[in-house]
Amino acid sequence: MRMNLCWLRRDLRLFDQHALSQALRSGLPTRVIFIFDPSILDDLDPTDRRVAFIHQKLAEMNRQLQSHGSSLWVFKANPEQVFKQLSESFQIQAVYTNHDYEPYATSRDEKIREILEQKGIELLTFKDQVIFERAEVVKQDGLPYTVFTPYSKRWKALFTDDLLTEHPTRLQSSNLHSGMELYPLPDLEEIGFQCGSGIFPAPEVDTKLLSNYHNTRDIPALAGTSQLGIHLRFGTISIRQLMKQALLCNTKYVDELIWREFYQSILWHFPQVIQQSFKPAYDRITWRNNTQEFEAWCQGQTGYPIVDAGMRELLATGWMHNRVRMITASFLTKHLLIDWRWGEAWFAKHLNDFDLASNNGGWQWAAGCGVDAAPYFRIFNPSLQTARFDPDFTYIRKWVPEFESLSYPRPIVDHAVARARCLKTFQAALQ
Ligand code: FAD
Repeated sequence: MRMNLCWLRRDLRLFDQHALSQALRSGLPTRVIFIFDPSILDDLDPTDRRVAFIHQKLAEMNRQLQSHGSSLWVFKANPEQVFKQLSESFQIQAVYTNHDYEPYATSRDEKIREILEQKGIELLTFKDQVIFERAEVVKQDGLPYTVFTPYSKRWKALFTDDLLTEHPTRLQSSNLHSGMELYPLPDLEEIGFQCGSGIFPAPEVDTKLLSNYHNTRDIPALAGTSQLGIHLRFGTISIRQLMKQALLCNTKYVDELIWREFYQSILWHFPQVIQQSFKPAYDRITWRNNTQEFEAWCQGQTGYPIVDAGMRELLATGWMHNRVRMITASFLTKHLLIDWRWGEAWFAKHLNDFDLASNNGGWQWAAGCGVDAAPYFRIFNPSLQTARFDPDFTYIRKWVPEFESLSYPRPIVDHAVARARCLKTFQAALQ
């Protein structure tokens, strides 16, 4: 039987899903597939929470598809091999999938396109995870924005309600492929991972939190942010539905979602930022890169309570509050003079909501070398940040209960000394 495939990647949902919507309306039965790609999995720790999250979501979708007489086909193999095999074994008309903008994904998709074309199969791709993609928000002269405020102004000027029109996905036994469950979802253990706690934030945010977001978003002791990063990363919520809610509730929250698209646009236009500082002069900085100090930072043992609280929260939960991400990143790059790429890699390993574009953007911002970044002479003072954002030490006490005791380490570096050293080092590189 001829069929179409819908290939899920960072769009793990069966509602308001652009590629799936198109596939279901194509007139041929659709089989939904997912590929665990070893070139991504092999770099991860067996306890990686994100794989457990993906697995949970696949299981949920599989149950939904089964209730309509279909099932998810799941592979653990190189995507090129998977499509070679599928195109030889089945009569496939087209593969539907949503755009993925990261450099690895775009080159992978080009290879898949070639493989499929050789068999006369179309690869049809759609915008799904953002409101504006690629070069849709650029300056009048077609050049990309590198400063957030004008980008966001243009974003808002170009925005129309049509962009929030949902892509309906009425699952029915008539539009789904009902053949055998040939490639069932493997257990997590079978693909080399462990279950872990498996508890993740809900894929929704209440209107009350969102309406008050501008007051609560900077206080790490409060549950004052949406915690939707992981859902935006894996597409377990729809950006169109979330943006609709945000537009009704809070302009500050809309701005944060625009920051997400701004960094995606930066990565799209300047893929070199993965390896290099956006401002090349910053790659002349002589980093100290002291491995013992790096380890102390990673483990939350720097003797700076607000920094240690953040780093311990990250290890314990896979999430860290945005204010504290800024403080810890500034501390690593400026107080310890450790290359921002080391910190970026640590966050990439541990953040459940790790997103290449936003993580790279956040790190380059903190180090001063990125687009629209904090200037190098802005060096967060951890004590002042604490006084402002955690004055009662509520957040610190939660993650570093021993911070007032003798068992707590002495500060790894003196703030004034570190500040002066940072200014000297950055100035020497940038002059
Ligand atoms: P909320 O405050 O509820 O915001 C809602 C959503 O808006 C977020 O989920 C996110 O998608 C987006 N958003 C909010 N702030 C930003 C921002 N500054 N930049 C880009 N998008 C934003 N965000 C990631 O999604 N993945 C990362 O890997 C990541 N790494 C970061 C590293 C550093 C050093 C810094 C300073 C920031 C990083 N951020 C990252 C941005 C921000 O910290 C997180 O998006 C936010 O803390 C996630 O929590 P939340 O979902 O409760 O966010």
